[in-house]
Amino acid sequence: MLIRFLPAKRPLTQSALLYAVDLEEPFWVLRRRPGGALAGGDGADYWVILGLLNQPAGFCHGGGNNAAQRGFRTVVQRCGEARELADYAPVRGCMAIRPYGYALWENIQRSLDRRFKETGHRNAYFPMFIPYSFIQKEAEHVEGFSPQLAVVTHGGGKKLEEPLVVRPTSEAIIGHFYSKWISSYRDLPVLINQWCNVVRWEMRPRLFLRTTEFLWQEGHTAHATAEEAEEEARRILDIYAEFAEKEMAIPVIKGRKSETEKFPGALVSYTIEGMMGDRRALQMGTSHNLGQNFAKAFDIKYLDKENRLQYCWTTSWGVSTRLIGALIMVHGDDNGLILPPRLAPIQVIVVPIYKEEERAEVMEAVERVKGLLGNRVRWEVDDRDEYTAGWKFNEWELRGVPLRIEVGPRDVEAEQATLARRDVPGKEGKWAVPLDGLGEAVERALDEIQEALFRRALAFREEHTHRPTTWEEFVEAVEDGFALAPWCGDAACEEAIQEKTKATNRCIPLEQEALPSGARCAHCGKPAAEWALFARAY
Ligand SMILES: [Zn+2]
Repeated sequence: MLIRFLPAKRPLTQSALLYAVDLEEPFWVLRRRPGGALAGGDGADYWVILGLLNQPAGFCHGGGNNAAQRGFRTVVQRCGEARELADYAPVRGCMAIRPYGYALWENIQRSLDRRFKETGHRNAYFPMFIPYSFIQKEAEHVEGFSPQLAVVTHGGGKKLEEPLVVRPTSEAIIGHFYSKWISSYRDLPVLINQWCNVVRWEMRPRLFLRTTEFLWQEGHTAHATAEEAEEEARRILDIYAEFAEKEMAIPVIKGRKSETEKFPGALVSYTIEGMMGDRRALQMGTSHNLGQNFAKAFDIKYLDKENRLQYCWTTSWGVSTRLIGALIMVHGDDNGLILPPRLAPIQVIVVPIYKEEERAEVMEAVERVKGLLGNRVRWEVDDRDEYTAGWKFNEWELRGVPLRIEVGPRDVEAEQATLARRDVPGKEGKWAVPLDGLGEAVERALDEIQEALFRRALAFREEHTHRPTTWEEFVEAVEDGFALAPWCGDAACEEAIQEKTKATNRCIPLEQEALPSGARCAHCGKPAAEWALFARAY
């Protein structure tokens, strides 16, 4: 097993380092732990390997005697079991999503799906194979997606007459069906969403952020007027933003993509952009007003009330498993994941603490705790006898469970339980609660954690968002995080900025303050058109 140490330039405590894994060149994130925390260890310090996402995690010992080496092998195995979100696939760029990671995705799905349905959308399913000629019908679309296409040339042991594309997105195939299903204004609007997988060949894959195959939802709607399509694209953007902030506890900036960055074939693309723990930007969801481009390419027409044949106005919008990457990168700390309570598969972990002779009475109290929690929250009891309480604390911290309930002999005696917040380490985040009223106290604590995570992420983003007006300030700003700068709107200027700083135009925020009179582009000095957000991005 090869252990690579991170370059020492950045402090190891940065949450982003938890995610510093690359499918090509995996490296390990290490954390020093005091030796006392290790069950069966010899008391010397050791290193925990936070290889959460791409490698079997374990630790290597600071001392190196035989007992430690034995302990090393055991803990490597145990931590390997805790590395539960995802795993590499034999095909580069693909991943297996493990049950803990998938439960997280299911919570994201459920929460979004409810919002889509409340706004009149329904789910459907479309085929994953698309005739190659369909993709070619919209010129910008084919140009944008060509480099990423997976193409099937053989089937049933024979060369196919026409190659098939594995869907990179479904505008083309859904457009085909909409042209058959829509004939009159009475059929409109069509508001359909699909939950599925898509394939986009990735040259530089990263687990969850950029995988060749990923899971997502894609909404596709058709409308009678330009105004309705625009309204729909904006409505969905609002849903995405509200979901990100309320459920994921991640503050986002709503904006419009520049002409360079917009979806191939779209009239206008909207985005929500979040700041990750390493101060880079992540595009977390997009919503596109496709105008009549796809309706014309796929012949989606309807007869209006005056019996005139009109092209529809369409939209498409999506978020993907990339959101799991965002959760990891925004909230994680040097002890592992921190999952926002609203999405956490396990919100509360109950850990009994006892010596052999205390087991019966402690477990009796745990039974009572289970009854008190009931269906209020998603909880589990870790009653495995083979691990110490301290070891369990570590493990559930690593997995990001937002709240821990400890039940020990002293708690039993005092008719109480001890709560510990994942987001507030040490004694500060720990307090005793009387068993009467435990359920309410736990719910309240989860709400507080949810809010605290959002506030912390927002404060972090504010701290690293700058408003440069000169080029020197701009360069400094993108070194530190987000640069909200007056910009000319010119594509060549945008490209030059990227070449010089590796920062891309993330969006033109929808909320625009008035530019100072005579404001000039922070890069080229031409008259500024709008404020634009620039940052290095995933
Ligand atoms: Zn410029």
